[in-house]
Amino acid sequence: MAGGCVRDTLMGRRPADYDIATSAPPDEVRRLFGRTVPTGLRHGTVTVLYAGHACEVTTYRIDGSYDNCRRPHQVTFTGDILLDLARRDFTVNAMAMDLGGGIIDPFGGRGDIDRRLIRCVGEPRERFSEDALRMLRALRFAAKLGFAIDPPTLGAMRACAPLAAKLSAERVAAELSGILASPRPDTVWQAVDMGLMARFLRPGAGPRHALAPLPHYARLPRLCADLEAGGYIMSTESFLRGLRLPARAISSGSTAAEILLSGSRDYKRLLHSYGRDAVLAAYPKSRELRRILRSGECWSREQLKISGAELRAAGFEGAGIRDALEALLRHVMERPEDNEHEILCKLAKELKPNDRA
Ligand code: ATP
Ligand code: MG
Repeated sequence: MAGGCVRDTLMGRRPADYDIATSAPPDEVRRLFGRTVPTGLRHGTVTVLYAGHACEVTTYRIDGSYDNCRRPHQVTFTGDILLDLARRDFTVNAMAMDLGGGIIDPFGGRGDIDRRLIRCVGEPRERFSEDALRMLRALRFAAKLGFAIDPPTLGAMRACAPLAAKLSAERVAAELSGILASPRPDTVWQAVDMGLMARFLRPGAGPRHALAPLPHYARLPRLCADLEAGGYIMSTESFLRGLRLPARAISSGSTAAEILLSGSRDYKRLLHSYGRDAVLAAYPKSRELRRILRSGECWSREQLKISGAELRAAGFEGAGIRDALEALLRHVMERPEDNEHEILCKLAKELKPNDRA
């Protein structure tokens, strides 16, 4: 086993997955196991399907030249695990465990786990120049594990930050969401301040609401609202589109950010205009909002105790039906106790006379 699963095991955390490293070349791995998927043959990765599990098996490799601070062009396989561990980003990620549970730790990863440090394997500037994503990864691991970043590594991040401009939006978005989903989501502002997100932001300033107290789903909208209010982005929608998020995430994120930017706390109105999920994403901690949602108090036409069909039977027509429903809704949003069929029928009659007359 190599990489994150060794780190997590040593820390007593449950690994997300187990990556296997081997001196066997990919072809041999495929020969040895019955069912395999050639996941990333170019990089030496074969997925082995065995006893109901899927496991990535990667041949020890040395990364070749790096293209534009992104992934390596080509890789060379090697039989030496030490060379494989040397290509890895941080000391805590550069350990392996053999079948007997013995730890191979050439760069002091265990010591850095004890000291709770993210530290580059080798010369930090070189490593960040090879792959600029590692700077965002450093912040993600620091946020996720609750570690500090070793000062020389941090210094190199400050120096190399402009290289992040070349990263693909998808890779940046994946690290950003990893940071936001961590126990220290506010680390995302370090990425902003260091210029690691510069490709997606303009210079800005302004208040920053704490993200950590918020549930995961509410963090991105809150961040976006602060970025927008602070002038870092033109609009949340264009920012999220630039990060190439899925269409649904763009629309839910920008709706919730819009609610936050409006500053409105008129929850029923907001629920009526934007729907339950968006308002909850904007104000996940509001007791009043939760009370309204639990109470069954009316904020949508569907909840009115009178229907369009009943209004039609009472003589309303076409757009008049919709207008009457809206008027009744406005009324019961103020006076929840009036959401009773009989009361609404009476109120509807009072609305009616003008066009009868
Ligand atoms: P997580 O639990 O968050 O998945 P992980 O350590 O498994 O953490 P991955 O991104 O899945 O992280 O990568 C697996 C391993 O591959 C890392 O532990 C590291 O050894 C190596 N690695 C991944 N990306 C890079 C990179 N950009 N540069 C160097 N090594 C990397
Ligand atoms: Mg992993």
